[in-house]
Formats: sequence, structure tokens, C-alpha cells
Amino acid sequence: MDISIVIPLYNEAESLPELFEWIERVTKQHGLSHEIIFVNDGSTDNSWEVICNLKKQAPEVVHGIKFRRNYGKSPALFCGFELAQGEVVITMDADLQDSPDEIPELYRMIREEGYDLVSGWKQKRYDPLSKTLPTKLFNATARRVSGIKNLHDFNCGLKAYRREVVKNIEVYGEMHRYIPYLAKNAGFKRIGEKVVHHQARKYGTTKFGLNRFVNGYLDLISLWFLSTFGVKPMHFFGLLGSLMFILGFIAVVIVGFGKLYSMHAGMPYRLVTESPYFYLALTSMIIGTQLFVAGFLGELISRNAPERNRYQVEEKL
Ligand code: UDP
Ligand code: MG
Repeated sequence: MDISIVIPLYNEAESLPELFEWIERVTKQHGLSHEIIFVNDGSTDNSWEVICNLKKQAPEVVHGIKFRRNYGKSPALFCGFELAQGEVVITMDADLQDSPDEIPELYRMIREEGYDLVSGWKQKRYDPLSKTLPTKLFNATARRVSGIKNLHDFNCGLKAYRREVVKNIEVYGEMHRYIPYLAKNAGFKRIGEKVVHHQARKYGTTKFGLNRFVNGYLDLISLWFLSTFGVKPMHFFGLLGSLMFILGFIAVVIVGFGKLYSMHAGMPYRLVTESPYFYLALTSMIIGTQLFVAGFLGELISRNAPERNRYQVEEKL
């Protein structure tokens, strides 16, 4: 099979029939064999009935997964990815904001130009300014942190992957925003971009509020930490802890010797506990020790992680 199209959806009943027909039209025109995997993320409208109807229309093409409750877009993608059989896996939003007309070109870029992942870029967006402006900032930060310099739109729902990519990354939590980063961390370096058409939402409403940006930043920090120190947390906590401890220790020595010197030289002197530096030094040493302990705990945890020795082996002879 050429293409698996994975579509996460949450209350998008009105859009589904139109989306389905559009995909069928495009794939037929280009002679691409395909499957469509609808992942119904706990919709409370009649999305699932619509999917069941589509399944009756095209039992070979349509697959559906129905979550018992709403888990989020990442879990929906994860389950869709598990099921996908096609050489190329394409994800798109269900709300008709992403155009199925892009599918053939995305497919071609993966198959012929050798990309592992091609991300859509909604260069001209039809979203309110309150969304587009923070998005620009968000993408600039994501580019910096992830080191994927050529992507303008990390969170575009329309993306295409070589099958191995989706089988070897684990999207979870709200990490769908950073799939290119996950892919890069898994060793898939050929990441490309294609300008795609974007449309205003026709039916329904957006499922993400402004808190997406706060959460997005926190997730980016977590991902950076995991990819840099995930299997060696002591290198992070140990370094910080040592620095803090040494700083405090030096300060304590200075305070102590300062007093001894004053006593020896017969100058007026105070109790060390009257000096503010003493308390700063003490705090610094305590925090340093705590960071060290956190490092040891981190090591214990990462030693037990099931994926501690899972590596991406590309080929074997
Ligand atoms: N979505 C989902 N589960 C959720 C939230 C959203 O499956 O908990 C789907 C949603 O139905 C849509 C896609 O994720 O197909 C993108 O959501 P939306 O269009 O609301 O995001 P936006 O375009 O505003 O970024
Ligand atoms: Mg949308």
C-alpha cells in the first residue's frame, strides 16, 4: 500500500464526509493505493456514526479507532501510527483546514527526494492574529532548541513520514507539536518542508486554547532535557550540584578564615552566624547536595527505564 492517512478528530462530524470524498478524489486521480485511519478521540457528537457510515461505503479503505474518552491529539496520532501499513504515512487534521490536494506531492517528496519527514508550512494562514503571532515566536524557539533550522511550522497537522519514522518514535502527552524533533532524536535527519494551502475552519471550533503556548514551551524544555540528559541525568544535576556546593564551600571557608584572621590580628570580630554570607553559603551547599541527590535518583530511574538500551539500528550485515 502506498499511503496511510491518519486523521485524529474530536467533534468534527460535519467535516468528515467532505474530507473523505476529497481524499478519495485526489488519490483516485493519482492512482495511489491508500487507507484512511480515523481516530475518534472521544468525540461527543456523532462523529463515530459518520465514520461507521464511511466504513460501509469503503470497507477496504476506511479504518476507525474510537477512544472511550478524550485523550488528546498525540495519543490519537500514536494509535493511528501503530495501525498504519502504508509506505508513506500522512497525518492531517479533520477540520478541512489542511487540503488533501497536497497528498500526491508529499508522497512524491518522501519516495523520490528521499526525505524521512516532510512537514507542511501554512505560509499563508487563515487563523486569528492571537494565534499566528505567538506561533511565530513558538516556532523560532523550537528551531533554536531542536536544531532543525529549516522548519517554519512545527505544529502543522499536515505531515508526511516514511513508515519507519512513525514506527520508531513515540508521540505522547502533547508532543505532537514536536514530532520533527522526536524524529530527529531518533536519528531521522532528512527533514523537509513544503508550503501548503491552509483554509479557515469551515465547521466546528478549534480544540486548543491559548494555554497551548504555555504548555508548548514547557514540553519543549522537557524534550530538550530528555534528549540531552535523558540517560545521564547525573551529568546535569551533578554539574549544577557541584557548582553550587563548591561555591558555598568556598564562601564558608572565606567567612571562617576571615573571622580567625580578625581574632588572630586582634581586630574586632563577629560571630559567623551574624554574617549574611554565612547563610548564603549554607543555602548554596544545601541546594548543591540536594541537586546531587536528585542526580542519583535520576540515575536510578533511568537505569530502570525499559528503553535504556533501545537503539535505532538502521542496517545490519
Ligand atoms: N483533536 C483531537 N483531539 C483533541 C483535540 C483536537 O483529535 O483533544 C483534533 C481535531 O479534531 C483536529 C486536529 O486535532 O482534527 C487539530 O485540532 P484543531 O483544528 O482544533 O487545532 P488548530 O487548527 O486550532 O490548531
Ligand atoms: Mg484546525
